[in-house]
Amino acid sequence: PSITRGVTVEIPKVSWEDIGGLRDLNKKLQQAVEWPIKHSDAFSRLSVSPVRGVLLHGPPGCSKTTLAKAAAHAAQASFFSLSGAELYSMYVGESEALLRDTLRRARLAAPSIIFFDEADVVAAKRGGSSSSNIAVGERLLSTLLTEMDGLEQAKGILVLAATNRPHAIDAALMSPGRFDLVLYVPPPDLESRYEILRVHTRNMKVGDDVDLRGIAEDTELFTGAELEGLCREAGIVALRENITTTVVCNRHFQTVKDALKPALTKEEVD
Ligand code: ATP
Repeated sequence: PSITRGVTVEIPKVSWEDIGGLRDLNKKLQQAVEWPIKHSDAFSRLSVSPVRGVLLHGPPGCSKTTLAKAAAHAAQASFFSLSGAELYSMYVGESEALLRDTLRRARLAAPSIIFFDEADVVAAKRGGSSSSNIAVGERLLSTLLTEMDGLEQAKGILVLAATNRPHAIDAALMSPGRFDLVLYVPPPDLESRYEILRVHTRNMKVGDDVDLRGIAEDTELFTGAELEGLCREAGIVALRENITTTVVCNRHFQTVKDALKPALTKEEVD
């Protein structure tokens, strides 16, 4: 991937098969992202305007970034990634220039997906932040609004934004032609946890005694990121026990699981 400060560009390699659970979301994203790119003639023929922006919200570590990458992979779109926190930390003028430049480059590289992580840092409600920060936030927000409106004429460009705090996003961004699709990315339920464990053990030599379903049952409130970490750690425990071992066994998974506590709480999820 080519890298300039604050932005990386590539067509991601992650595909829908790398995501455990979340089938409905995959389907909705496919319709919003793949269809307008692959069937742009059909959209023009019927004068249907495609979705310009999708807001993904939900707790950290539950695959918002991975979903955005899988959508770009499926559509074979260039993937530009921007972080709200990084934009916010730049010098006056620098962040607006980067935002504008990223959209310009995305137009040139179309079809493109611009993934905007921690969007709430930049797209926060006006009047919500402390006085010294208002100027930075509002300037960035107004640049983002202008740029998104400019996408109206551009073909094959979609902005996917991610946040843990959807209520903090300024209402102006939610109007038609901006983020017109809002999708909740939930923490994984039992079946999704089982599938996530399967994804992250599929290239691992696991013993016959490994009961992924049982582990899924015992890991309520675990995020996808935590389940991925559990699988990796189980492998490390097995190696630590015996560096010549050929398989990761159930006891290795259990040891790690018993030592882990999910970061999410029941109140956050309900
Ligand atoms: P953040 O809000 O912290 O940026 P996120 O919601 O964007 O988090 P990701 O970065 O997509 O989450 O996921 C973190 C890691 O967890 C990824 O490496 C991914 O492999 C794994 N992961 C999360 N959810 C799933 C899932 N449903 N299936 C497979 N892997 C998952």
